[in-house]
Amino acid sequence: MIRIENVNKWYGQFQVLTGIDLQVRAGERIVICGPSGSGKSTLIRCINRLETVQQGRIVVDGIDLTANARNVDAVRREVGMVFQQFNLFPHLTVLQNCTLAPMSTRGVPQAQAEATAMKYLERVRIPEQAHKYPAQLSGGQQQRVAIARALCMTPKIMLFDEPTSALDPEMVKEVLDTMIGLAEDGMTMLCVTHEMGFARSVADRVIFMAEGRILEQAPPQQFFSAPQHAKTQAFLGQIL
Ligand code: ADP
Ligand code: MG
Repeated sequence: MIRIENVNKWYGQFQVLTGIDLQVRAGERIVICGPSGSGKSTLIRCINRLETVQQGRIVVDGIDLTANARNVDAVRREVGMVFQQFNLFPHLTVLQNCTLAPMSTRGVPQAQAEATAMKYLERVRIPEQAHKYPAQLSGGQQQRVAIARALCMTPKIMLFDEPTSALDPEMVKEVLDTMIGLAEDGMTMLCVTHEMGFARSVADRVIFMAEGRILEQAPPQQFFSAPQHAKTQAFLGQIL
């Protein structure tokens, strides 16, 4: 579903990604962790071309992102993204947040867009909030709206960039539970998160990044019980 081959990326003189190789199969659940500044956000933003790379190849569901700028729209149709900051439109209701992109970029009729939105708001368990504005919701509810909004575009891949990091502790679980539900339904997922309980129970593979490189990757059982690299050991020692 995703093929990343020998990707190198610089911000000016600073090399942020070095020799990244990563393949993700359909339905696979990947957790990416690593110290702040290691390039995790940059890497997943490259997958829907919020960032461009100077070297290497990124192919998403057979569409080569690095070959042709016109492929960007095609890839974005397949890839949903959820950020640490929920990025909901404050002046639109929950329902309008969910119907805006399907109606404006795909020409989905309003009634159909609303029916789809309600289906996904039910799936994230907040259909009763549909007519409220984001500011009237808790952080956990807002993040679940952001997930529902992404699902309304019927993506094949979901990217999560620290989706629970901005939440009060009591709201983390409701968002993780939503993500677990998606994983159980077979969604291909890449999640940057330091929620190691989530990684243990959901991930097929945990990837550790440091200084722009993938230093280590393994199934969670192996990753947590026998980390190979000294930097992985130090990182896990700090967060567990
Ligand atoms: P992470 O998500 O692992 O914390 P990021 O991908 O956000 O790491 O950032 C990796 C490095 O790239 C950091 O040193 C960061 O300061 C730098 N960086 C991120 N975005 C930009 C940018 N737009 N311009 C210049 N440097 C950036
Ligand atoms: Mg980040």
